[in-house]
Amino acid sequence: MKIILAAAIASSLISATLTAAEPIKVLIVDGQNNHDFERTTPYLKQVLEETGRFQVFVVTTPPQNGSEAAWRGFRPQFSDYDVVLSNYNGQTWPEDVRNAFEQFVKEGGGVVNVHAANNPFSDWAAFNDMIGLAWRPADFGDRVTLSEDGEVVRTEKGEGPGAGHGSQHPYTVVTRDRKHPVMEGLPAEWMHPQDELYHGQRGPAADMHILATAWSDPETGGTGEHEPMVWWIPHGEGKVFTTVLGHVGRGQPQETWPMRCRGFQAIVTRACEWVATGEVTIPLPDELPTAEEVSLAP
Ligand code: ZN
Repeated sequence: MKIILAAAIASSLISATLTAAEPIKVLIVDGQNNHDFERTTPYLKQVLEETGRFQVFVVTTPPQNGSEAAWRGFRPQFSDYDVVLSNYNGQTWPEDVRNAFEQFVKEGGGVVNVHAANNPFSDWAAFNDMIGLAWRPADFGDRVTLSEDGEVVRTEKGEGPGAGHGSQHPYTVVTRDRKHPVMEGLPAEWMHPQDELYHGQRGPAADMHILATAWSDPETGGTGEHEPMVWWIPHGEGKVFTTVLGHVGRGQPQETWPMRCRGFQAIVTRACEWVATGEVTIPLPDELPTAEEVSLAP
C-alpha cells in the first residue's frame, strides 16, 4: 500500500513537472500591416523560441482586398493556442473569426499586441474594449496619460490631440509598475533605441493597468505628456497585453530595428508567458538597458 501511494505521488510530481515545462503555444497573426510584417513575424518567432518556453505558429490573412473565397480560408482555431500575438494592422476580420477570438479571450486566452496591432478594428467594439487605447481620432474616445508622479490623467473624448507620433528618436521608457511579473527587475527608467513614440491614443480605456510610459517631447513633435507605452486589460477570464513600442517600417535596415531592444524583447516574451500562465519564469537578459544606454540584441 505504501509503495503504491509513493508511486502515485511520484507520478503526480512527474506530471506536474511536465506540465510546467510544456511549451506555451503562441499563434502570431499577420497578413496586412503598413509595417514590415514579412520580416518582423519571423524575427518575433525567433525571439520567442530562443527562450525555450514557446512553440510558435503563424497564420496569415489574405492581403488587402483579398477575395471572399480567400477570406473564407482564414478561420484560425484560436482555442488550439494559449496566446495570440497580433502583428496585424489591416481589414477587420470576418464575423466568425471575431466571434471566435472574443470567445477565446473570454475563456482565458491570452493576447499580446505589438506596435500597430492597436491600429485596426475601429468598428469592432469588443476589440476596442480589449486594447483600451487605440490609434484613433480624438473624438473616438478618452485619452489616458500619467502625471509625473504616476497619477492617471483622463482627457475626455474630443479634447486634446488624437493619435499620432512625432519624429522618431531614442527615448526613455519609465517602468510604472515594477512589481508586475512582466516588468519586475527592469530598471525604473531605461533607454529605448530610435522608435516611434505613440501619443494621443483613444478608446474606452477601462480597467487599464499601465505598466510603462514615455515622455513625449514637444521638441520632436510630441505632446509634453507621459504617454502609455505598455499596458494590459483583463477581458473575461483572459488577459490582453499591448505595447506600442516596436516600429519597423517597410525595408527598414535591421540594424535600426527597435525590436532589437532587450527591454522590448523581455517585455514581449515575458508578456506571452504571463498572459498564458499568470506567471513569469523567463529571466531578464544579463545586459539590460540602463538609464543612459540602450541594449540591443545581436
Ligand atoms: Zn510604426
